[in-house]
Amino acid sequence: MTRPDFDAELSQYVRKSGIDLRTDSRGCYLKRRLNQWLIKYKSKRGSNELIADFVVDATGRNTKFALSLGAIKLKYDNLIAITGFITPGEFKHEMPAGTIKIEATSYGWCYSAILKDRTMVVSLMTDNDIAAEYGSTEKAFRYLIPSTNIGSNIIKKGGEFETITACSAQTQILNKVSGDGWLSVGDAAWSADPLSSSGMFKAIRSGINAAKAINDCQLKKVSALERYAHEVRTEFYKYLAERARYYRMEVRWRNEDFWKKRHQLNWLESPVKVHPMHRIEFDPGVSPKKRQHIRNVVPSIDLDLLINVLSKSTTACETVEVYKKSAAGSVTDKEIIVAVQELLAL
Ligand SMILES: Cc1cc2nc3c(=O)[nH]c(=O)nc-3n(C[C@H](O)[C@H](O)[C@H](O)COP(=O)(O)OP(=O)(O)OC[C@H]3O[C@@H](n4cnc5c(N)ncnc54)[C@H](O)[C@@H]3O)c2cc1C
Repeated sequence: MTRPDFDAELSQYVRKSGIDLRTDSRGCYLKRRLNQWLIKYKSKRGSNELIADFVVDATGRNTKFALSLGAIKLKYDNLIAITGFITPGEFKHEMPAGTIKIEATSYGWCYSAILKDRTMVVSLMTDNDIAAEYGSTEKAFRYLIPSTNIGSNIIKKGGEFETITACSAQTQILNKVSGDGWLSVGDAAWSADPLSSSGMFKAIRSGINAAKAINDCQLKKVSALERYAHEVRTEFYKYLAERARYYRMEVRWRNEDFWKKRHQLNWLESPVKVHPMHRIEFDPGVSPKKRQHIRNVVPSIDLDLLINVLSKSTTACETVEVYKKSAAGSVTDKEIIVAVQELLAL
């Protein structure tokens, strides 16, 4: 089944269940008013508005609404997908629809897939900064794909990529996935590397969990939204460990930038070496390279805030306490400690 077919079937099911679904509309404004929401949206028929008790942000990776409510995206990498399409016609391939091939390369990985209408898609997965070295995503694709087994086989058989598009495929999570009268689901809450092939499944599961949380809210059960946020974060941490396990299976290019970043320990895996009473002696001059490294290891940490707190704290324990009081969004003690260790080079 193709994605548009899947979406159409799902829409039909929702309508049959008696739900008022407006598929041709784009939400463009959200405002909390007393205990309700004012939502403005646009459709072919013009602008309109409605009042709702609860808002679910299901807008995908862009997470349009959660960001407008003050949430921040924590980015765990800068993976992009550059995709070339070959429409069926001159180019003949023997692979049946649904066939997928995956290949690792020194600068990322790529896959080819055959769609239901026999269109072939080839996606190059690499980091945004690596692609930028070629001048544009299209140039990166046209330069790099022929050097892969997947690409060279296609080109040998006369395949030509007509359309080339690029989109973000980075691993990210919101620092706040729910709040008063709202929550985010699917890719809007957190999105996974396409290598995991889990986005659709997790989006549906998070929709089910969100429905339970909203129902609990209506029943005035305490902490329903906090529980939901905790579930989301637990699932994300599990995914981070899985992602690391898969990338570390590839050892041929462990010194190349793309793989080095994915082999490096993230904050979940880093050991805690600092004693709570460790006395802080901190030099606030932090190089841009070090800042970037710490952002890769612990994306949830507001480095400027931590540097400020560290320069006034006397112990590690005090740093954690003061940082948590001032930080926006939830952050664990371990995230703070690992960032402190990196800053103090412990
Ligand atoms: C290259 C690539 C390959 C992938 N391959 C796979 C795979 O093989 N298997 C898999 O399971 N997953 C895969 N995924 C991930 C999968 O596509 C997503 O995880 C999944 O689509 C998430 O569903 P979602 O409903 O949360 O978000 P989306 O599918 O992004 O849906 C969000 C919807 O919100 C709508 N929207 C946005 N803004 C507004 C607005 N203001 N008003 C109204 N509507 C709005 C959008 O139009 C869109 O329809 C892949 C992703 C990428 C980038």
